[in-house]
Amino acid sequence: MKYDILGVMVDNATMDEAVRDISRYFGSKEAHMVVTPNAEILLMCENDRELLQAISKASFVSADGVGVLKAAKILKTPLKEKVAGCDLGFNLLKEAAKGGHGVFLFGAKPGVAEAAAEKLCEKIPRLIISGTRDGYFKPEDDDEIVRQINESGADILWVCLGAPKQEKWMAENKDKLQVSVMLGLGGSLDVYAGNVKRAPKIMIKCKAEWLYRLIKEPWRFSRMIKIPRVVKLAKAELKRRQNNA
Ligand code: UDP
Repeated sequence: MKYDILGVMVDNATMDEAVRDISRYFGSKEAHMVVTPNAEILLMCENDRELLQAISKASFVSADGVGVLKAAKILKTPLKEKVAGCDLGFNLLKEAAKGGHGVFLFGAKPGVAEAAAEKLCEKIPRLIISGTRDGYFKPEDDDEIVRQINESGADILWVCLGAPKQEKWMAENKDKLQVSVMLGLGGSLDVYAGNVKRAPKIMIKCKAEWLYRLIKEPWRFSRMIKIPRVVKLAKAELKRRQNNA
């Protein structure tokens, strides 16, 4: 079941359901896009039609953040739980390893994807890393990147270029890629490489992961300050829907 949260169709699923539904695509001939919008990405869609269009091509859209959950609740279509992209990506790698599906890690600064690959292999038995590549390239490199990914034989692709670049890149190259599932996962490679730490579990449980990220990376403030706008937009959208009903 998908809910319209400020124009983005978000899947109402628990983490387990998301992993089950997405891993069903493993091995298929068509490349399925998975995107993990947070409140900031919902806001970007307001003024970026290309991003909204890219997201509309996704087979699965997970709610990555309390801001999205809050907006959903205001719109009276509450979502079951937050499905953080970083954790979803990891859980899908565990499923990929069980099924012998290879993974390509694309994105972040040079050396980060390789470091993440090493750490992920320590955590996930039998994980197959088919290839890695950093995320700094020119638009004319696209064909060469697609060729590298296809030649690697990978079935699963992590695209970690940050939003909205990763969503647009996936939508643009979807039909040329011979993977079955590709996920836009922002800074996840930095997290698994050990460059950026996740918040302590207690903070995640208390829905305060944003506060931890803010303390560690203060430059995020200018991005986070926009979050209350999502709440405002959701309230206005609810009013509009009620008036139209
Ligand atoms: N990045 C990249 N290519 C670019 C711009 C960014 O590979 O042209 C990477 C960057 O190095 C970082 C990730 O994209 O690893 C974005 O991380 P951020 O934490 O900003 O993303 P978020 O998780 O907040 O969406």
